[in-house]
Amino acid sequence: MQHAEILLTGIVQGVGFRPFVKRTALEHGIKGYVENREFGVKIIAQAPKKSIDKFLKDILNNAPAVSTILTHSMKYLEDDVSDFETFEIAPSKKKGEISALIPPDIATCEKCAQEIIDKNDRHFSYPFTNCTNCGPRFSIIQSIPYDRKNTTMGKFIMCDDCNREYTTIADRRYHAQPNACPKCGPELRFIEIADESPVVTARREKAFDKTISLLQMGEIVAIKGIGGYHLVCNAMNKDVVEKLGILKYRPQKPFALMAKDIETIEEYCAVNKDEKNMLEGQQKPIVLLTKENEILEHVAQGVKDLGFMLPYTPLHYLLFKHFSLLVFTSGNISEEALENNDDSAYQNLANITQYYLSYNREIYNRIDDSIVTFAGDQKILIRKARGFVPKPINIARGIGKPQIFASGADMKGSFGLTKENIFIGSQYLGDLAFASNTKFYKESLEYFQSIFEMKPQIVMTDSHPNYFSTRLAQEFAENNELPIHFIQHHKAHIYSVMAENDLENVLGVSFDGTGYGDDGNIWGGEFFIINNTESERFAHLNYVPMISGERAAKEPWRMALIYLYKYYPEIVDSIITEKKFPQKDMIILQLLNDSVRLQTSSMGRFFDAVASLIDVCHFNSYEGEAPMKLEALADENFSEYYHFVFDKQRSLIEVDLIIKGIVNDIQEQKSKKYISSKFHFTIAKMVFDLCKKMKNESGIDAVALSGGVFQNVVLVNMIKRVFAGSELKLFWNTKVPPNDAGIALGQVYSYLLKSR
Ligand code: ZN
Ligand code: ZN
Ligand code: FE
Repeated sequence: MQHAEILLTGIVQGVGFRPFVKRTALEHGIKGYVENREFGVKIIAQAPKKSIDKFLKDILNNAPAVSTILTHSMKYLEDDVSDFETFEIAPSKKKGEISALIPPDIATCEKCAQEIIDKNDRHFSYPFTNCTNCGPRFSIIQSIPYDRKNTTMGKFIMCDDCNREYTTIADRRYHAQPNACPKCGPELRFIEIADESPVVTARREKAFDKTISLLQMGEIVAIKGIGGYHLVCNAMNKDVVEKLGILKYRPQKPFALMAKDIETIEEYCAVNKDEKNMLEGQQKPIVLLTKENEILEHVAQGVKDLGFMLPYTPLHYLLFKHFSLLVFTSGNISEEALENNDDSAYQNLANITQYYLSYNREIYNRIDDSIVTFAGDQKILIRKARGFVPKPINIARGIGKPQIFASGADMKGSFGLTKENIFIGSQYLGDLAFASNTKFYKESLEYFQSIFEMKPQIVMTDSHPNYFSTRLAQEFAENNELPIHFIQHHKAHIYSVMAENDLENVLGVSFDGTGYGDDGNIWGGEFFIINNTESERFAHLNYVPMISGERAAKEPWRMALIYLYKYYPEIVDSIITEKKFPQKDMIILQLLNDSVRLQTSSMGRFFDAVASLIDVCHFNSYEGEAPMKLEALADENFSEYYHFVFDKQRSLIEVDLIIKGIVNDIQEQKSKKYISSKFHFTIAKMVFDLCKKMKNESGIDAVALSGGVFQNVVLVNMIKRVFAGSELKLFWNTKVPPNDAGIALGQVYSYLLKSR
């Protein structure tokens, strides 16, 4: 018989961890105890060595999905430890037991979902039912330690029944801080805007019934969720879906859907095992799934995927007793910050709806739905928010290093903070060109510093001189008298992949829409050899003039014109007509005058140009529209390509043959599908060819790929196919998004590599 002490750090408190350890101990015949400590959880296990090893393995592999084990250690103890007869959860000691890490919001568990439909249970039909394994966390936590009084549940005094559950170790609601029931917890309210002021017109069941009948009548209702409001309507009613798009000022942008169950989703999309696990797991993000038919085309026009999620609060479960499918889109206007505050929602969403299903518990931290997609079995985080934040990421290199604040980038705001080996990234904060999002950013930064007790000593930021996030970082550094380091955008993308995999040397492929380059140009089609702290820009897409700046990003036809003019001027007039694009001559004049000094090597803009060339999309009504519509046409099994030339002398890739090839195929009336597939495969082959060249030069065989372009699943799958069997090994982002919201992690890592 052996005694072992097991120490676990990470998010292991407030997530049902101790009951899980006890169950696992009983399965393996382990005696001893488990207790919460200030650093995490301590276990004393008494059993034969073989059983203890299996027990630990089981704990690491099967821990509750919402927990995050950052580090673990085990040591065997001397024999004089007293013998244990049972395995127990040690009662909590008062002081110093809560670790500073807090869990993300957790989707309703099966048991709670069962109780709310059980007529004999006291939680029957109660929309705020939760337990230790599920319910709101991050969104309601105001300060630490994580106790009820420090959450927005603090004002609700537990009734006797709830309190009994809360204080009974064996109960599923033991220490469930948001525990509530119809007697003592939050209640539903229906609010209507009459003469510009909100009036409560119904409560509890009546509020719920009103919502059901309005949705059935084809109205839009704003429903308060976990991290903010949703705008909800009947997905099958084309008129109301169209109306919602217009009122949200984004008529073309796809809407997310919530479905009753997997079977409902399967009427529109095939769902594989990984996707099913993600849909049904405790995080319940929106999962992007390839359309199988056109039935829901009006919800997501011209793109490959539909975004589905399953109910994740008791209120959702109750709603879906009456529906099988609803549009469930974020409650905001256009790209503005998600509405979480009741009064602000009534004001800002007033043009969209006068109906609100709300409740009297405050959302302290707003947090949007996360979005996940899959390329094969590889998970790609498109938007990291509810369910994923604030889970820490382990960065071993941070041990013994100063604390870091990394400000991220602007297009998709998200900052990061570190303390020793812990990296915590903020939730998705939106496009920082909008004032509501910059306010959100500042509030979150304050909150994260206080809740995780972090006090940065180093500031990392993008080298873009005009980013909001850069200026904020500079102010932060000045105000706190801290050193600040600038890191080039596309290198930071690559460092984010290196951070996830603890790599030192990689071949970096950094493709996105825009980022400030070391030479002052706009980069975005970049190949790097990164050797520890040295980085070499091995190749990039050849520059084209960047005319009309921001508008070129919003209007792909401008990029098409720019590319044609550069590589195939004699064909311009037959492809881009003045009738369709009246501003055409103005741009040509600018090109002729050579008045454009700013150049771009952006891969995103190259995709834009091709999307317009083949008449798929000339104007982006939302970010990424053109490339998404181009991707929707591409067949990932395609293997023809256009030629391109690598000019080693000038470190660039010349794409004139791609443009000419595409024009040729247009003139030969090849289908859009054909051209798009061929273009996608061309880029996959370009990545492979260049990586082989970089390997020959450097001897490095690890390839790190990052940047918004790698949200394109067809391209990712093609790249994997081309690289299969080669000596090059691919690394992707899986813990942070490949888009700009993942960049803070890269900024941190670039510092950690350099500061050894
Ligand atoms: Zn539960
Ligand atoms: Zn109660
Ligand atoms: Fe980027």
